[in-house]
Amino acid sequence: MLLVLVIVDGASLEHYSTCLDDMPINHLFDVVKLIDTRDSKNDVGDSASGATHIAVGAKPVRRRQIGITGKTSWFREACQNPHIQTGIITSSYITDATPAAFIAQTSDRSHNRIILNAMLNANPDTIVGCGLHSYTISKLRPWCEDTGRRVIIDSNGVTQHRSFDLANEANIFLNSVEQKQQHGVLVIEAGQIDVACHNQDVDHLEQEMNELCRLLHTLKLFQNHAQCPVNIVMTSDHATGGVQVRAQNKVVIPYDDHTGHLVPMFVAGSCCATLPRECVIRQFRVGDWIRAVINNQIK
Ligand SMILES: [Zn+2]
Repeated sequence: MLLVLVIVDGASLEHYSTCLDDMPINHLFDVVKLIDTRDSKNDVGDSASGATHIAVGAKPVRRRQIGITGKTSWFREACQNPHIQTGIITSSYITDATPAAFIAQTSDRSHNRIILNAMLNANPDTIVGCGLHSYTISKLRPWCEDTGRRVIIDSNGVTQHRSFDLANEANIFLNSVEQKQQHGVLVIEAGQIDVACHNQDVDHLEQEMNELCRLLHTLKLFQNHAQCPVNIVMTSDHATGGVQVRAQNKVVIPYDDHTGHLVPMFVAGSCCATLPRECVIRQFRVGDWIRAVINNQIK
């Protein structure tokens, strides 16, 4: 069984609607639900709280909080299972709040050293992302050489000039799982839509949506020929900025911060049968549900 979670950092329904013609949403996914991302103060959340809800299945936590003390994420549990190949791929920093929530527990998303040590400790098979600073690179490189893990840390940082592509990296991971006839759990963060919208940079947003489209086409191709059951979940940690299409198809990002409570969650595969029944699902319940999918489908 393969489970792929795509977290599109900051994406709202409007972001998907701007590129519906290019994105194989109807061909790839079977169900769409709405996710209530509110944090413990009922405020619009951030990447730390949103990703923690999804990773741990914890009741709403406050902004900036990474993980919950004493609670293990389903991703970390998968890393401990020798029959599951695990990977984290992000177009953001490898210690960004979204991937961090799947492997670390700390009170604030800025604790990069704690997050990086937790990443090494969790020991996933694949780590791909951008480097925050030389500390990240110098810590990860020897670890990579020792363990033979696939690790790419792009020291250019989070820019439009990244040396890797989400679709290509996902393809390498998925084919490796299939060749080894293992189970696979892959978390992908399409992490730059949030940044593009904070900067109200329409060109950057378009570039990131194109990369997301390539990723979804890759997942669709894989799903078509895969020998094993493939479950795909795509959602957001929170929504950022929104998008409006105005006269003569002029695209604008009307707001430069996090917006609204509800984001979509698209789901494909046999896991749809066990989705919570409600139309609007509290975000922490997504975490509980994914954990149950993994435990039920990987005995
Ligand atoms: Zn943001």
